[in-house]
Amino acid sequence: MENKLGELLRQSTDIVFFGGAGTSTESGIPDFRSEGGLYRISEKQQLPPETILSHSFFMRYPEHFYTFYKSHMIHLEAKPGAAHLALSSLESQGKLNTVITQNIDGLHQMAGSRNVLELHGSIHRNSCMKCHASYPLQAILESSEKVPRCDICGEVIKPDVILYEESLDPNIIELSVRAVERASVLIVGGTSLTVNPAASLINYFRGDKLVLINKTPTPYDSYADLLLCGSIGEILSAAMISDALK
Ligand code: NAD
Repeated sequence: MENKLGELLRQSTDIVFFGGAGTSTESGIPDFRSEGGLYRISEKQQLPPETILSHSFFMRYPEHFYTFYKSHMIHLEAKPGAAHLALSSLESQGKLNTVITQNIDGLHQMAGSRNVLELHGSIHRNSCMKCHASYPLQAILESSEKVPRCDICGEVIKPDVILYEESLDPNIIELSVRAVERASVLIVGGTSLTVNPAASLINYFRGDKLVLINKTPTPYDSYADLLLCGSIGEILSAAMISDALK
């Protein structure tokens, strides 16, 4: 199976990757729905991640939000894994043109990918809710207060991540839709394809081959031309080696 993917990668040039939290589990960042994912962790505090990571919860209980966010969504020690590195290598070879990610961890960029569309924002960008002054991640982590505040106007700083109940950036959606529409091969990986509107991006694909790589079944499995069940890092690196794309 991996060889089929290797052969496809070797023959193709207009590849787009669309991924989610499963792309980063091998870097030690838990996803939401796997065993050991954030759903299981948050069961103990009786609030699902969707509630804590929602706009209304952030506005009402910013201290509680930041306690959860800092301990579960920020992983400073995380390094790009085999999947991030394979995708970056495909981009440098001129085969892959866009990575579209639901992740907020910045690991694709750390691996060297340049054309990355972050549908759900990034932990690395933060801004004041009033004057919109920008702050790096360090400002959030090093703040002496439980809720970081703007040095200029004193208002709360909010991470530039899309919280539940918030809309996605229309420019990023448009660029993502265009990239998917133009792709000849769409590789979808490490996502349960249950978070909308991100998951519905697949519906815009008009190309030849839809490749789906995931550890567990997704609602889109029956649409895949190549369905690969397993570790995304292992599957992508095996495909790179099998056709000497490394
Ligand atoms: P999800 O948790 O709903 O699904 C992850 C999927 O990846 C699961 O189906 C799981 O079986 C699969 N998976 C896990 N590890 C894998 C691996 N090594 N190889 C192959 N498949 C693997 O995640 P989602 O679909 O991305 O949606 C959850 C939302 O939460 C998204 O918005 C996401 O951005 C956000 N989130 C982001 C991060 C991050 O930035 N790293 C972490 C947790 C959640």
